[in-house]
Amino acid sequence: MNILVIEDEQKLVDILKKALTKQGYTVDTALDGKKGLEKALKNSYGLIILDLMLPKKDGKEVCRELRNRQIHTPIIMLTALGLLEDKIHGLDVGADDYLLKPFEMNELFARIRALLRRPKVTDTLIYKVGDLVMDTKAHEVTRAGKRIALTPKEYRILDTLLRQKGGAITRDELIREAWGQDFKEENHELNVHIRYLRNKIDKGQKKALVHTVRGVGYTIKE
Ligand code: CA
Repeated sequence: MNILVIEDEQKLVDILKKALTKQGYTVDTALDGKKGLEKALKNSYGLIILDLMLPKKDGKEVCRELRNRQIHTPIIMLTALGLLEDKIHGLDVGADDYLLKPFEMNELFARIRALLRRPKVTDTLIYKVGDLVMDTKAHEVTRAGKRIALTPKEYRILDTLLRQKGGAITRDELIREAWGQDFKEENHELNVHIRYLRNKIDKGQKKALVHTVRGVGYTIKE
């Protein structure tokens, strides 16, 4: 199995590469977040070991962008910080597990094995609300059986809403998920995309599914 290690400490990269190779894994490496993201988007890996503090693009950003692009490769986040909010944030942006530096190799191996035992989410994840269906594998959205063509942003907004089906999601969260960063400037743009999305999904339907939650943001429900 192929593992990508994204870590800027050359010494740790060498140690990880040696240890993982000895365990029978094939190891590819990247020394900064930008390069790591490029590799993760281009090649297919069975697992990614991702450092949190990285030059050019930090681990959270890399993780978020991968998940936004529907890449569900298991990710173990490494960090020297060990703060609770970092852990929560790491898992929030889509990391599967979290390991504090310094760690024992055996601990890492155990986490890797545990993650690889998990059923893959890559294969057909289907969301349903009423007669709206999103098939994340086929990248297809239908309402009452009719296919709806969405732009990539509309798709990501809908995907974010559906992942929290029934619960309210804040505007900031939506923007962060759909745009990835610099969310302050995108406030007006969000309104526009939401309007388009509603036109495509709810217009002409008996029941609207996308609802405004006053003072909070949006929710999707019947
Ligand atoms: Ca680092």
